[in-house]
Amino acid sequence: MSSEPPPSASAPPAAAAAVDDMSTDLAATTLSKKQAKKDARKAEKAEKAAQRQQQQQQAVDADDPFASHYGDVPVEEIQSKAVSNRVWSQVGDLDAAAAGRTVLIRGFAQAIRPVSKKMAFVVLRQSMSTVQCVLVASANAGVSTQMVKFATALSKESIVDVEGVVSLPKEPLKSTTQQVEIQVRKIYCINRAVPTLPINLEDAARSEAEFEKAEQGGEKLVRVGQDTRLNYRSIDLRTPANQAIFRIQCQVENKFREYLLSKDFVGIHSPKLIGGSSEGGAAVFKLMYNGQPACLAQSPQLYKQMAICGGYERVFEVGPVFRAENSNTHRHLCEFVGLDAEMEIKEHYFEVCDIIDGLFVSIFKHLTENCKKELETINRQYPFEPLKYLDKTLKLTYEEGIQMLKEAGTEIEPMGDLNTEAEKKLGRLVREKFGTDFFMYRYPLAVRPFYTMPCYDNTAYSNSFDVFIRGEEIISGAQRVHTPELLTKRATECGIDVNTISSYIESFSYGAPPHGGFGVGLERVVMLFCALNNIRKTSLFPRDPQRLTP
Ligand code: ATP
Repeated sequence: MSSEPPPSASAPPAAAAAVDDMSTDLAATTLSKKQAKKDARKAEKAEKAAQRQQQQQQAVDADDPFASHYGDVPVEEIQSKAVSNRVWSQVGDLDAAAAGRTVLIRGFAQAIRPVSKKMAFVVLRQSMSTVQCVLVASANAGVSTQMVKFATALSKESIVDVEGVVSLPKEPLKSTTQQVEIQVRKIYCINRAVPTLPINLEDAARSEAEFEKAEQGGEKLVRVGQDTRLNYRSIDLRTPANQAIFRIQCQVENKFREYLLSKDFVGIHSPKLIGGSSEGGAAVFKLMYNGQPACLAQSPQLYKQMAICGGYERVFEVGPVFRAENSNTHRHLCEFVGLDAEMEIKEHYFEVCDIIDGLFVSIFKHLTENCKKELETINRQYPFEPLKYLDKTLKLTYEEGIQMLKEAGTEIEPMGDLNTEAEKKLGRLVREKFGTDFFMYRYPLAVRPFYTMPCYDNTAYSNSFDVFIRGEEIISGAQRVHTPELLTKRATECGIDVNTISSYIESFSYGAPPHGGFGVGLERVVMLFCALNNIRKTSLFPRDPQRLTP
């Protein structure tokens, strides 16, 4: 890369405009001479600094025969200069079977504990795993006191390479996940973290129980607030619980795809920049699109239905969903990951319910059986009871739900939506009566969007349902209207300008199979499966009405 400044950088624009070609040339020559002098001075300085560093290093080397066993690795060494073919170990793989082996690992320096001039511990962390590295000054091991000093002077969270021999500790280790130690032979710092971090990882990783215990002992521990965590998310994400949460999230997404693919669904991608709004309503982010008003998609709804009209039979999509509602709640984001599916049905929307049943039971089973380490890790910081679910998901009708709430002292307005409190209460009642935290709930039409198919015998009702985990909604689903006449009627009744969705309605005039589908919020599923108290904990970089960065 050139170190020269851009040609116009040092000439003010007004002056530049006033001079003719000749004087421009002269000015340029004068400037480039000045620049050349400046560059020469800079180069001289850099050379002297390098010489000084070399002399210092030589002095250290003369003083320390093991000086090459430690140090800061200059960035040029890791500028894709060479491939060494060294073999790297994963911290999480280090166990008793590795005892006696020489290993090479890279990790964050989570803790640095000097013991004496001749001894120190460095705990290295890789995702959810930590290992204790021991430095003991000894000529046999090739470790000098200067090397111990170098290690103890490292800043926490620096990136460090350690080469050493795996050994078994005399007593079980309490502060690391791995029950082996590494007797350090070489230690290099790849990138130093600033000495004082805005968040102390230990503080960010504490459970409520630890705070309580400390308080009982008269100690006041630092609490890291949600906003501070999110402001410094790249540090906050390193806590074991956060490492586990987003691994769980990845598994949910993966299983969603895997299961639907196994049922012959086709993955699609619908546009996120759209002309009209996706579903009607005001909750859209507006923008200008090449001079015409547009908005960000508040769901892939209309497009996944048009894909069904396009003959794909069964489709799914995993993609961003944008909602401009000013909902400052624990479960609403302005951007979330939508897991959507749409499918042809032969005669009943229960065909959609059956897919949801199989899909979610398979996701829950997978998490429980294959993500034990992640779930235990989350549990340590945020304890939760495992999700209760049935092999065949419970379907509750609106009346049954209302009746259960009524019996428990909560009255719901006729045909009304349940508010958050009522939903949570119903969740508790269902758990007590049916032994499940996961159930489907059929809804009346008044609270459903225009594209929802009304019920055949009572148009006050719709062929739609919500699905709940621990009393909070994670899925909305329904049979959709598949005739253009009924769609136009329902859109008009719902106050939607049909001109804004004319191409959508039109697609139902060319032959449209009966169909239904559902939409899930990925962050909500993870939040509720793990009984976390805030959706911001399950969004990598959350977007809410107040937050647009980082
Ligand atoms: P809610 O009543 O909770 O506001 P909704 O009825 O508006 O949700 P739908 O439009 O039916 O939700 O969306 C389907 C699913 O998408 C919801 O069940 C939920 O899991 C998720 N979801 C909806 N809105 C949000 C949001 N603002 N933030 C995060 N997830 C959301």
